[in-house]
Amino acid sequence: MPDSDLPAARAPLTDSFGRRIESLRISVTDRCDLRCVYCIPEDIAWLPRAQLLSLEEIARLARLVVSAGVKKIRLTGGEPLLRRDLPHLFELLSVIPGLADLALTTNGTQLARLAGPLADAGLRRVNVSLDTLDRATFEKMARRDALGRVLEGIEAAVAAGLRPIRINNVPIRGLNDHEVVAFAGLARERGFEVRFIEFMPLEHGRRWGTDVLVPGKELRERIAAHWPIEPDPHLDPHSPSRDWLFADGAPGRVGFIDSVTQPFCGACNRIRLTADGKLRTCLFSVREHDLRDLLRSGADDEVVLERIRAVVATKELKHHVTDGLYVKPERTMSRIGG
Ligand code: SAM
Repeated sequence: MPDSDLPAARAPLTDSFGRRIESLRISVTDRCDLRCVYCIPEDIAWLPRAQLLSLEEIARLARLVVSAGVKKIRLTGGEPLLRRDLPHLFELLSVIPGLADLALTTNGTQLARLAGPLADAGLRRVNVSLDTLDRATFEKMARRDALGRVLEGIEAAVAAGLRPIRINNVPIRGLNDHEVVAFAGLARERGFEVRFIEFMPLEHGRRWGTDVLVPGKELRERIAAHWPIEPDPHLDPHSPSRDWLFADGAPGRVGFIDSVTQPFCGACNRIRLTADGKLRTCLFSVREHDLRDLLRSGADDEVVLERIRAVVATKELKHHVTDGLYVKPERTMSRIGG
C-alpha cells in the first residue's frame, strides 16, 4: 500500500461546524522579490530570520497535522523560492506517510534555477502566478521588470516534468483584465490550467473596491464568447476553484476562484501557517495563534497537536468581505501566505 493511502494515525482535525481540515498552506518566508500592488507594500520590512520557523520545525508541524488527517500541503510565501534550502524542505515533506499532495505556489522568478532540483526533491506540480504577458504591464503591477525571468521559469517547470502547470492570474479592472482571453488562449495552446482569482481586500492601502474587482461570472462570459467552455464534471468539492473545460476538446482548462462573489467557506478544509509560526484558520482571520513559542518551549507532539486542535475548533464559519462586517486583517497577503 503506498504511504499516501495509510489511514491517519490520530483523530481527524475537525472544526466546530463539522468541517474536516485536510489542507495546510505553509508560508516559508515573508520575503518577496516582487512588489505586486495588490499584495505587498513597496517599503516592507522583513521579519528577522530568528523569528521564522526552521525547516525542521515546519516539517515537525507538517508530520503532526498529517497524522491527524491533513492530506495536502502547499508551500507559499512571500516568495517561497527565496527560502534557502527549499529543496531540502521538500525532501523532508515528501516522505511523510499519508501526505497525498505536496504543491508549491511561486512567482516563478527563481524557477529557471530551481525547477529541476525541486522536482528531484519530491515536488510534482507547481502554480505560477502571472498576471500579464505584457512587459510594461508586468512592471506596473509587480513594480519589477521580471516578466522574462518568469516565462523562463515556466519553461523550466515544463522541462522538469512538473504537471500540471497552473497559472494564477488576478484580473484587476483597467490594469490587466483585457488579457483574460489571451490567458485562456495560453491554456489552450500549452495545456496549462489558468486560474483566475478574484481580487481580495488583503492588499496594502485601499486599491480594492467593487469597481476594480472583476467577478468570475464576467470572466467566464468573456472567455465563452471566444471559446465555448463547460464545467468540469469531475468536481473536487473542497477545491476553491471551479474548473471549466473547452467544449471543443482543446487541452488545458480555465478555473475561477470567486472568493468574493461566490464564497466557498462552507466547503473550506484549509488552515494556514505563517512563516513566523502563527496558525490561521481563515485567509481573512483577524486572530492568529502562535505555535512557534510552544515548539521552542520543548512541548511534546501531543501537546502541540492539542493546541492545533483547539485552534481548529475556532475556525470561522465564513468570511465577511461583502456583508458589511469585514475587518481587514493586519497582515497583507504577502505576510499571510496566499
Ligand atoms: N510569491 C508567490 C506567488 O506569487 O505565487 C506566493 C505568494 S502569493 C501571496 C500567492 C498568490 O496570492 C498569488 O497568486 C497572488 O497573485 C495572490 N494574491 C496576492 N494578493 C492577492 C489579493 N489581494 N487578491 C487575490 N489574490 C492575491
